Amino acid sequence: MTHDVIIVGGSFAGLSAAMQLARARRSILLVDAGKPRNRFAEASHGFLGQDGVAPADIMRLGLRQLSAYPTVSFFHGEATSAAAEDGAFRLALSDGSEAGARRLVLANGVTDALPLPSMQPRWGVSVLHCPYCHGYEVRDRPIAVIAAHPMAVHQALLLPDWGPTTYFTQGQFEPSAEEAAQMGARGVSIERTPVVELLGEGATTRALRLADGREVPAEAVFTAPATRVSSPLAAELGCAFDDGMTGRHIQVDPMQQTSVPGVFAAGDAAAAVHNATLASAAGVLAGVAAHRSLVAEAAAQRGAAA
Ligand SMILES: Cc1cc2nc3c(=O)[nH]c(=O)nc-3n(C[C@H](O)[C@H](O)[C@H](O)COP(=O)(O)OP(=O)(O)OC[C@H]3O[C@@H](n4cnc5c(N)ncnc54)[C@H](O)[C@@H]3O)c2cc1C
Repeated sequence: MTHDVIIVGGSFAGLSAAMQLARARRSILLVDAGKPRNRFAEASHGFLGQDGVAPADIMRLGLRQLSAYPTVSFFHGEATSAAAEDGAFRLALSDGSEAGARRLVLANGVTDALPLPSMQPRWGVSVLHCPYCHGYEVRDRPIAVIAAHPMAVHQALLLPDWGPTTYFTQGQFEPSAEEAAQMGARGVSIERTPVVELLGEGATTRALRLADGREVPAEAVFTAPATRVSSPLAAELGCAFDDGMTGRHIQVDPMQQTSVPGVFAAGDAAAAVHNATLASAAGVLAGVAAHRSLVAEAAAQRGAAA
């Protein structure tokens, strides 16, 4: 069966795109592998009406509401490859089947590459990337910023609003004289000896072990990991990419149209700034834009036939 739209990714961006298209009574297939980026966190913050709610509960509610629309179908698994074919698209799915659609929305998110192995079990609990998402929960505790990217300086400048902050250059991300002065004015300490390991029970952090053997107290660690788009589908389809702050992302216009006609993209995979609300808003735009392009195509075909 050829759907009007296939949406790859069923999290904030994908569900939001799907909701617009379902309400426009279009036949859609939502393909989702079930690994949203924030699944490591116990609670999601800052999403209006859902502050403090578990990410999985937000997704469950979104899916339940979407399931009420009769033109929506779901595939729980992965889209493994995509190709354009006669003005439409074919996707291979992880169960060996195929699905086709006249439009695609890529909402497949990004994957984080954490700079130290001991960060992985603490990710989303005591190792964090977004002060607005989790800073309030670790307020007034000793905070470390472990640089993995030049943007780390900006994180370090923000974080004193939540707690006493030390910036670890890791021997690679030395602030400029101007940045060091700004850090000084904000009360940020600078440590140049690299952190080699995080210490603490389970997912908690109590201290950092430095390369010279010292242990420095820290209960919350912020880092800006490198990101990569979670699926090769956009690249396979020939979509252009832009350089973002932490990695490349799919290039889109203001209506979330990629460089390939008929392919829309939304959420972290198609943005330099990553946040659940922004992903959801971009998903809404992508859904609306995909719908409008189907309407415009039908009008053009009627015009040509007349
Ligand atoms: C630890 C952590 C905590 C965070 N906390 C917050 C917070 O409190 N507040 C906030 O606003 N933001 C938070 N964020 C950011 C937020 O998680 C992202 O901005 C948001 O999830 C992006 O939504 P998305 O729909 O673009 O992608 P994602 O949520 O990453 O979802 C992408 C979906 O696509 C699926 N997928 C990928 N490839 C394929 C494929 N080939 N086939 C099928 N499915 C596929 C994935 O399995 C996944 O389900 C946090 C991020 C992290 C890492």
